[in-house]
Amino acid sequence: MKSLFLDIIMENQNHYDFIICGGGASGLILAQIFGNDPYFDNKKVLILEKEIKSQNDRTWSFWEEKNSVWDSITHKAWKTAEFKAAQFSKKIDLNPFQYKMIRGEDFYKKLHENLEKKSNITFLKEEVTSIDDEGEEVRVLGKKNFYLAKKVFTSIPPSDHLREKEKYPLLHQHFIGWFVETENPIFDPETLQFMDFDLPQKGNTRFIYVLPFSKNKALVEYTLFSANLLENKEYEEAILEYLNKKNAGEIVIQDREQGSIPMTAYPFWNKNTPNKMHIGTAGGWTKSSTGFTFQKTIRKAKETASFLKTGKPLNQVKQKNRFWFYDLLFLDVLSKHNEKGHLLFSLMFKKNSPELIFKFLDEKTTFKEELKIMLSFPVGLFVNALWKRIF
Ligand SMILES: Cc1cc2nc3c(=O)[nH]c(=O)nc-3n(C[C@H](O)[C@H](O)[C@H](O)COP(=O)(O)OP(=O)(O)OC[C@H]3O[C@@H](n4cnc5c(N)ncnc54)[C@H](O)[C@@H]3O)c2cc1C
Repeated sequence: MKSLFLDIIMENQNHYDFIICGGGASGLILAQIFGNDPYFDNKKVLILEKEIKSQNDRTWSFWEEKNSVWDSITHKAWKTAEFKAAQFSKKIDLNPFQYKMIRGEDFYKKLHENLEKKSNITFLKEEVTSIDDEGEEVRVLGKKNFYLAKKVFTSIPPSDHLREKEKYPLLHQHFIGWFVETENPIFDPETLQFMDFDLPQKGNTRFIYVLPFSKNKALVEYTLFSANLLENKEYEEAILEYLNKKNAGEIVIQDREQGSIPMTAYPFWNKNTPNKMHIGTAGGWTKSSTGFTFQKTIRKAKETASFLKTGKPLNQVKQKNRFWFYDLLFLDVLSKHNEKGHLLFSLMFKKNSPELIFKFLDEKTTFKEELKIMLSFPVGLFVNALWKRIF
């Protein structure tokens, strides 16, 4: 009897309206949207995160128009970008957009500070081991305790999430970046290097990406869109080669970052249940044709919060749209002709204004505009991919 009584008390204490598993980018952004919306003021929200996220474990870059809530923690913003390939290069005025960079450390600090002010939102350091939608409620098991909620959102990467590789080709945006200080002033601090394909492609899509902070300080990344990761040595040798080619002189590596972001049209949302939803990269919130995730996460988190108000089951959130299909075709082509990436991106930048390209990648274009972008590519490659998807 005593044990039953204790069980009931425990269950009440551990009972929440919403649990967010994973307090990284998507988990914190979703929590922030709950925190800013009075509708959620009387909802108990729990965030479970296995690590203390206070370090600069990554930097997020994204484009947006003019000012936003991120400006207070924007490390640097650029108004001009450069696209470069062997056969074509272009300096791009990003107006009306700005390309902004946020350091992970500043992002975590700001969001934690905001969330700490909300008495209905609790943050716990806990490693989640299982999440079971039991119909009436969802049971989340952690290494320290168990927790119950009406709805659960998880950004924890599922172990089996990319099983259907045959049906949905899987590439990665993978890279190593060095934060360098160079002896010579080789960078233009006003212009970011969006993609520099003017280097050996070795049968893949390979480019250098540079975020310059001053004439001799920058983040320089060697990036691939391809199926297989490289040995660390290969990324680093390529960065060194690029810097030497630019006559950097002596180089001091102040910090480094490394990542591998899945690029796949796999419908992650098929794993959602009425009360459990995958979010972030684990929920398909990464733009699969580019690996950009930050802005899409903000948009998707807002849509999710609005959807919650309808009271409908979470597996009814509509995720597939025509942009998903464009990304699927693009990935079909890029995985089959990985060596043609530089050509596809060159054509896109040559034949379209940057404003249209960014609007398209933000999934805000009209069908007519999308047709214009699609016609910039070699039609045969895409017709072939389309044919295979249809038949
Ligand atoms: C180095 C790097 C740089 C990137 N740069 C950009 C960029 O410039 N622009 C852009 O748009 N995208 C970028 N991305 C892609 C994407 O924006 C990030 O990966 C983003 O962090 C994804 O958000 P998420 O919430 O899905 O995952 P995460 O931010 O990784 O959050 C998942 C969280 O779950 C926690 N977790 C995992 N397992 C458990 C568990 N069992 N229990 C509890 N917690 C758990 C993790 O500790 C983590 O905090 C980058 C990615 C990397 C790796």
